[in-house]
Amino acid sequence: MNYYTPATVDEALAVLHKYDGRARVVGGGTDLLVETRRGLRRPFDAVVDATRIGGLREITESGGYIVIGCGVTHSEIVNDPRIRARGTCLAESCGVIGGPQVRNVGTLAGNVAHALPAGDGTIGLLALGGDVQISGSDGTRWMPARDTFKGPGRSHIDRQRELLTRLRFRPTGDNEGSAFHRVMRPQGLCLPIISMAARIRLGDDGKIEGAGIGMGPVGPIPWFAEPVADALVGAPPVQEHFEHAVGVALENVQLRESKYRATREYREAMIRTWLPVILATATERAGASR
Ligand SMILES: Cc1cc2nc3c(=O)[nH]c(=O)nc-3n(C[C@H](O)[C@H](O)[C@H](O)COP(=O)(O)OP(=O)(O)OC[C@H]3O[C@@H](n4cnc5c(N)ncnc54)[C@H](O)[C@@H]3O)c2cc1C
Repeated sequence: MNYYTPATVDEALAVLHKYDGRARVVGGGTDLLVETRRGLRRPFDAVVDATRIGGLREITESGGYIVIGCGVTHSEIVNDPRIRARGTCLAESCGVIGGPQVRNVGTLAGNVAHALPAGDGTIGLLALGGDVQISGSDGTRWMPARDTFKGPGRSHIDRQRELLTRLRFRPTGDNEGSAFHRVMRPQGLCLPIISMAARIRLGDDGKIEGAGIGMGPVGPIPWFAEPVADALVGAPPVQEHFEHAVGVALENVQLRESKYRATREYREAMIRTWLPVILATATERAGASR
């Protein structure tokens, strides 16, 4: 096994090109190395560390976005005052990942690139309408994070030839707020039963003017819940409409029965219970930000 620590994106891409599909990009390694040890990954000859690349260990503001480099860890996101204030659901979602050791090395880029249906940071980023920047031999492009998922653990990002270099979202402004909640068994480190995040923007008339919802695991990919957001827009932020949004969510999800985590009925009950709470919290924060 060869371990590379490139200092630039070009250097990283050159190593990936050299290994022609036999190298893997690594962030914190909290998914890749665990799965490799368990024999869940095809063997590879080299690892390209994306966390030492110059300029990609920072959180910056540019062009109306908060931009997060691929080397930024969950802990750094949780502790960033800009993200806590104006991307609250992302800070909250990164804050529940694993324990402190995992959050100190695991990255949001790795969470999104891994494409697990219940990736917590991913759910927070989806609600904010986040994008990802991909760099490959054809150049660099931005795309909505929601369009990167292909299936459980499968991504349109070619993790053997491309780098997810940055993530970005438009920070919440006046009249906007966001919130995240996860339901899981209390034993600590295990996969979530259900994670949900919401971004709400209120109009001057007090009605919901814009919404973004992320949920998982409710199907093969992390869900950017567009039908739920559409059902909310134009309505007053009251319990009755939140319950209507729950109905729309339940019509669109494929809840799984899981032997170790939860029954389908339990997941449904948790959506009925928690989605209105998250929507109410995001609304309250939107009101407070006026
Ligand atoms: C004990 C434990 C508890 C955990 N708890 C949670 C949890 O509560 N919630 C949760 O969502 N996850 C959890 N995880 C999973 C993991 O920690 C997160 O998904 C984390 O965000 C992965 O980031 P990473 O940087 O470690 O990714 P890595 O393991 O380095 O990489 C993951 C995948 O993404 C690819 N990749 C990484 N970076 C890039 C990049 N820049 N460009 C292209 N591809 C890239 C890799 O090739 C690999 O396929 C847990 C893991 C452990 C070990």
